Amino acid sequence: MNKMGFGFLRLPMKDNKVDIKLTQRLADDFIAKGGRYFDTAYTYLDGKSETAFKQAVADRYERDRYEIADKLPSWMVKNHEECYAYFKEQLERCGVRRFDVYLLHWLNGENYKTAEATRQFEFLKELKEKGLAGRIGFSYHDSAALLDEILAAHPEIDIVQLQVNYLDWKARGIESEKCCLTAAKHGKSIIVMEPVKGGTLAVLPQKAAALLEKKHPERSPASWALGFAQSVPGVERVLSGMNDPLQISENMANTEPMSDEEKELLLKAAEIIKEGTAVGCTGCRYCTSYCPIGMLIPDIFSLYNEINRYPAEGWKIKPVYESLTQKSVKASSCIGCGACAQHCPQKLTIPGFLKMAAEALEK
Ligand code: SF4
Ligand code: SF4
Repeated sequence: MNKMGFGFLRLPMKDNKVDIKLTQRLADDFIAKGGRYFDTAYTYLDGKSETAFKQAVADRYERDRYEIADKLPSWMVKNHEECYAYFKEQLERCGVRRFDVYLLHWLNGENYKTAEATRQFEFLKELKEKGLAGRIGFSYHDSAALLDEILAAHPEIDIVQLQVNYLDWKARGIESEKCCLTAAKHGKSIIVMEPVKGGTLAVLPQKAAALLEKKHPERSPASWALGFAQSVPGVERVLSGMNDPLQISENMANTEPMSDEEKELLLKAAEIIKEGTAVGCTGCRYCTSYCPIGMLIPDIFSLYNEINRYPAEGWKIKPVYESLTQKSVKASSCIGCGACAQHCPQKLTIPGFLKMAAEALEK
């Protein structure tokens, strides 16, 4: 089993430019080892990703040797006509006449409204009808409930691109497992992004690494993470941003489907990785009904833990927070009455942590 796709987001760089020679070598190695799926987006590396694809792949390989997926910068589109202008520019940048997969980039609560207001789904359908896109879909960062709503409203969608890894599998902020189940319920194919959580799961805390090594001493942490993502039912491709020939060799090795026992082990490792989190909230929700202003305390703490653990991912986490608190209240609205804290079995000083969460998530 090998479902790997080559994500063109983290390409090797030299003097703020893509190192084209090395990118060509990586693309060559990937194709030589049986890879064919490439993924880029209008905004990746400020447009340099799409042109790097042209130079590394489209200009050098016959069209039937590869598949290319690209994404419309959904949130930047001001009116329906702009969709066509972006698409035309993307075809030129990538050096192709059609995309095999075309997605709306980064749907969440806010961007979904923009997509609907500018009729982006209608645009996708038209591309598919005209043969300019083989399959259509969107990449997604929000709750499983909203995903369900979008897929029910748009049965024409073929694919959803989701953040899936064993650390986020049960995470309340990301809801990997629930989102995968929702996609499966609607019969959609899943493309996985962030299977190694931006590299976090390639280097593990000692205790978590030891747990996995005991089972398979020869297997690297990254290979465990990729194996997990490839074993999720409904997953068609797993994207990895590779910038080193060694990564290509390791990632393109065949992976056996993971057993239930191995998956359980990874979820145990995830628990260890999560140790040392900023707030030890267990998500029991014993506190929420006592809050006079309806604060979604555990959901906010979950995102606060996320942004503490992965500060570089604030650009993804803050919009989820915005979307969450739009329908309720922000952490900074806490009036400090303390009614919640009296009911917390973990004895957390909830108002104090909410202040810190507001600092981290509302800046
Ligand atoms: S302290 Fe803040 S979060 Fe807790 S019940 Fe009062 S207002 Fe709600
Ligand atoms: S009661 Fe405490 S542990 Fe439970 S959800 Fe609320 S803050 Fe978290």
